[in-house]
Amino acid sequence: MENKKNQSAAKERTWKIREYISGLEKVKDEIIEYLGTLSDLDDSTRNLWTGDTKECYYSIAAAWQMLSSQTKNNNRFLDSAGNFLKAAESRLAQVSSELTSLDTKEARCLKQEVEESFNYCHLALSAELERLSAGKKNKKPTQKVIKAAENEYHLPCAVCGEIAVKFKIGRTKYDKKDSLVFSGITFSRSMEKDLAPQLFKHLEQENLSRVHAFMKKHYKREGLDAYCPKCGKIYCKRHYRTREEYDEGYYDCTYGTCPKGHKRIIHD
Ligand SMILES: [Zn+2]
Ligand SMILES: [Zn+2]
Repeated sequence: MENKKNQSAAKERTWKIREYISGLEKVKDEIIEYLGTLSDLDDSTRNLWTGDTKECYYSIAAAWQMLSSQTKNNNRFLDSAGNFLKAAESRLAQVSSELTSLDTKEARCLKQEVEESFNYCHLALSAELERLSAGKKNKKPTQKVIKAAENEYHLPCAVCGEIAVKFKIGRTKYDKKDSLVFSGITFSRSMEKDLAPQLFKHLEQENLSRVHAFMKKHYKREGLDAYCPKCGKIYCKRHYRTREEYDEGYYDCTYGTCPKGHKRIIHD
């Protein structure tokens, strides 16, 4: 009996999500149609913006596909669903900024419509993701810094233990020589290999604020993207609740809000 009840509740949710997604699909088509009517918009901008609108919708659809096709506790599918949801959020921010820049009544209406229908989808899919992840226990890491290999260090998220930051000596496909390679939650960067000894010293000492200061000095003033200076902790993309901002369709910056509510620009 209980099982039957659960099954019908699941069916109900599935049905609702389908409805929300087709709502978003409709608004997507309306925006694309509207962009097509704007004669003073040049073709390349129209194509870009049309692409953003489509990508926003298809990322939501893909997240749903991952969630509905997965068997319980398959982390790989859940992670991809989470990534698609994040991507969809970024594209929505982009589409909203594009519509705002048009500064017409129709564009303002479309912006409101797309944000509304997106929120329905996003709330429902996030809830579904939460529900399916419930069995997946967060493992609080025991170390602040993990030495993964000689010349390679990993920084785990303080909440779930997922590796948020990696530093190593190596090459990305763009590097011609060995470099100090950083990859964080918003960006990756190759730096001078000669800088490695001083950074590795901070890592050996698990001194995250020094690592942050090092990134400020040698990269950008935002420093180590996954680091909340107020908490003195590292957070993964999910737990730093990253949000990209756009201005007229162009990337502006990324904000992070940590589980304690500290907010800062983590990438510019
Ligand atoms: Zn985390
Ligand atoms: Zn914090």
